[in-house]
Amino acid sequence: MLPEIERLLVLQDRDRKIRTLHQEAKMAPLERKELETKLNAANAGLDAAKLKSKENEVERKKLEVDAQVRRDQIAKFNAQKFQTRKNEEFQAFNNEIKRFEEEIRVIEDKELELMEKAEKLKAAVTEADTAAQAMRASAQRQVADLDAKTASMATQLAAFEKERAAFAAAIDEELVDTYERLFKNKGEAVVALNHDICTGCHMKVIAQTSVLVRGRKSVVHCENCGRILYPSE
Ligand SMILES: [Zn+2]
Repeated sequence: MLPEIERLLVLQDRDRKIRTLHQEAKMAPLERKELETKLNAANAGLDAAKLKSKENEVERKKLEVDAQVRRDQIAKFNAQKFQTRKNEEFQAFNNEIKRFEEEIRVIEDKELELMEKAEKLKAAVTEADTAAQAMRASAQRQVADLDAKTASMATQLAAFEKERAAFAAAIDEELVDTYERLFKNKGEAVVALNHDICTGCHMKVIAQTSVLVRGRKSVVHCENCGRILYPSE
């Protein structure tokens, strides 16, 4: 193989690795964002469960107060009804007491219902809390992994860049320029010629190109796509 081609292939290998590392590095912030979203969702789930439980408790306290107001009123009526001498007033107090007692029964039924609901809401809070905790631990681990990966990629990238610079310095400057332009624009700069087919553009090259490539004496470009060719066999 032509020494220039060999050097260019090594350079291209490093450039591919550098390109892959750059692409992977771009993914890290997205992965971070995704973790953040999951974490926020878990926390929101916990907050929602806590709020429901709290609302239930507030409602229960309100019912307790409602019932107590009526109990106090009944006690008052019970005291007052014995102070009256009029039978209809006595009867009116009794009617009021009966009405309040009925209302208390309704309130107490509702309280019982809310107490049962409170048990379920409490369990839901515990469940959401466990889920949020697990999510936090998992996110923490994943962020640490991501940090380690990012650091390792930066180290690798620096090493590849350094190697790449050394390889490039050993190749004719003009050829490196041509190579770099091709690599940037076409993804691959140096490709194999396989049975007279350029593996870059998959077109058949003319006989003269084929002869020159197989001659291994000069840097030859595909006349269709401009990529640098080397013989595959
Ligand atoms: Zn081509």
